[in-house]
Amino acid sequence: MRIAIISDIHSNLAALERVFSFLDSKKIDEIFCLGDLVGYGPSPNECIEMIKCNCLVVVAGNHDWGATKKIPLKNFNAMGKTSLQWTQKQINDKNREYLQNLPLKIVRHDITIVHASPVTPENWTYIFSNEDVKEAFKGFTTPICFIGHTHIAVVINEDLTGRKLQQNTRSFINVGSVGQPRDGNPKISFGIFDLESWFYELVRLEYDIHKTVDAIKKAGLPPILGTRLINGY
Ligand code: ZN
Repeated sequence: MRIAIISDIHSNLAALERVFSFLDSKKIDEIFCLGDLVGYGPSPNECIEMIKCNCLVVVAGNHDWGATKKIPLKNFNAMGKTSLQWTQKQINDKNREYLQNLPLKIVRHDITIVHASPVTPENWTYIFSNEDVKEAFKGFTTPICFIGHTHIAVVINEDLTGRKLQQNTRSFINVGSVGQPRDGNPKISFGIFDLESWFYELVRLEYDIHKTVDAIKKAGLPPILGTRLINGY
């Protein structure tokens, strides 16, 4: 059983199309999505519909609920807020209902799937420091927990050593972001996990960034949202 895990698409249709066309040529049994389908980018409805068709399991991100007014925008930064106000006007009723009803946390194949920290996921806590990591391990009991939210890919083991997946310790795997990577590398980031061999692969893919940058301009969204895609932050 091979699972592809994608996260933080942020309405970047060109990036999402690239992911699915890449996965078409691979032997993949299931696709999981860790939330933030929308926000920042110019194609919310198209991305939601593509995720609905292709992903077996989808959890909510903070931007998904911000886009449906399920949570207030006061905790988002200025760019997030502006793009979510725009997104609120764009998404159709069906897609709004779909985002509103996404669950916060799912366990499947003994793997936990959540957008931010699994400890009270509705608080959307970032996992950066060792203290954050120690606390977050209290939020799941499975061997592996896949997360997104920071847009930076990393594997963190429970003993806080090593950055490689090991079978004898529990781990967080952050798969990075499809639509807005923030590690200085503009390439799409997502993961493929083999349940039998326990092999995890981080995939980085180029895509037509300028297609999304142009669509951001056309939509009247802040141009910095395009520049940051080119710079990968
Ligand atoms: Zn995000």
